[in-house]
Amino acid sequence: LEPYYQFMLRVVTPGGVATPEQWLLMDSLADKYGTGSLKLTTRQAFQLHGVLKWNLKKTIQEINEAMLTTLAACGDVSRNVMCNPNPYQSELHSEVFYWSQQLTSHLAPKTPAYHEIWLDGEKVVDGAEQGEVEPIYGPVYLPRKFKIGIAVPPSNDVDVYSQDLGFIAILGEDGKLAGFNVSVGGGMGMTHGDTATYPQLAKVIGFVTPDQVLDLAEKVVTIQRDYGNRSVRKYARFKYTIDRHGLPWFMDELQDRLGWELAPAREFRFEHTGDRYGWIKGKDGKWNLNLYVQAGRVVDTEDNKLRSALREIAKIHTGDFRLTANQNLVIANVTAQKKTKIVAILKEFGIAEGSNYSALRRSALSCVALPTCGLAMAEAERYLPSLIDRLEPILANAGLRDQEINIRMTGCPNGCARPALGEISFIGKSPGKYNMYMGAGFAGDRLSKMYKENIGEDEIIDTLTPIINRYAAERNQGENFGDFVIRAGYVKAVTDGTNFHD
Ligand code: SF4
Repeated sequence: LEPYYQFMLRVVTPGGVATPEQWLLMDSLADKYGTGSLKLTTRQAFQLHGVLKWNLKKTIQEINEAMLTTLAACGDVSRNVMCNPNPYQSELHSEVFYWSQQLTSHLAPKTPAYHEIWLDGEKVVDGAEQGEVEPIYGPVYLPRKFKIGIAVPPSNDVDVYSQDLGFIAILGEDGKLAGFNVSVGGGMGMTHGDTATYPQLAKVIGFVTPDQVLDLAEKVVTIQRDYGNRSVRKYARFKYTIDRHGLPWFMDELQDRLGWELAPAREFRFEHTGDRYGWIKGKDGKWNLNLYVQAGRVVDTEDNKLRSALREIAKIHTGDFRLTANQNLVIANVTAQKKTKIVAILKEFGIAEGSNYSALRRSALSCVALPTCGLAMAEAERYLPSLIDRLEPILANAGLRDQEINIRMTGCPNGCARPALGEISFIGKSPGKYNMYMGAGFAGDRLSKMYKENIGEDEIIDTLTPIINRYAAERNQGENFGDFVIRAGYVKAVTDGTNFHD
């Protein structure tokens, strides 16, 4: 650790739900130990940037005192379990959210080392010598990180096909949760120049009832623990394990471990991956505000005091906050009386609720990249808004200001903002240069494909302008951009990651 003096802390928030008290704590830590801003991540977690080494322990202790944790937010374990924030159906959200919490705690490492090191538990000892057992991960944990997400159709906001293990909520005729379709083997990361690495879409393998969820998740994780590639880290993700052995092998292995069979997958339909902005009244009569947060960055700037506004809201809010998979924020479970106050606070601080922005900006996703992420090859969060500044007039001239087009950018091919599922996406190659991809499905069910390699801003604009104009002139009724660029022959459709580089 010696050469590093400044750290990023990622805070687990299962399903992205935080209480107003937890929001206020994170807000205060941003000033006390961080750089004065909070990042809401694409996995519905908080990131605190710029924590100095000598403040790490104090910061982690204060996070834990607020019933949040950094345990398993990183590392070769199951990460923050994502969950649709569903402001429409409060009852269903509480059921689905419950399972995201259950999955998080069931798959959390059981080692006391975290508490010993960071929270001043017992003296640090050699766990193995003490007979300590890690029941799911064993002595060597997983070969790589493992990602789980729960979607509630028609929204695929969690990009369920990008998850190692996905659950798709299925409602019964009574409108209550009947269970989940299960998907396996998705993942976004790859390495530039190595075609043996690729993003992949998860495959739906069957249906489970809620009481089968934990058993299923545990057995899936143990298959990856036992068969994942431990020799070459870049081939270690679960998607490669399944692709290497084949889905029939995986299903046999899973059934052997479970001792029961999954039921056939049930009907469902995804319509989009984006958030739906503005105020929505839930079935319980409470209000929910899906607020646009550019790149998930909660910060005060000269002309936008978002962080101050959210702090004032947290002081009076009696519901909860829900970090969305699109880096936005739902202020949830708001009474009619509190709604009036929250609207007044937003007005006082000049915060737009989201629908004022162009549809392209509202549909944008970007990772942190430079200067915070050590793996970044190019800008993302700091640069994408200015690229959108240049694209907006082109779209407006073509009559497409309100046309949702998913646009994503990452600083490297690790894919934290899930760029292979952007209808237009950019993956950094070097400062100012990106590979450009197009053609992903609007509902997150098809991958994008590389169209141009290693291009800068002017070439991006020159490339996209005629395509946008043609899309405006020739699109079919309701045709999304990703579908159009395939029909028009710009790129081939990619429905299996093994064809991503063809
Ligand atoms: Fe993730 Fe790469 Fe972006 Fe860093 S630069 S946040 S590793 S995608």
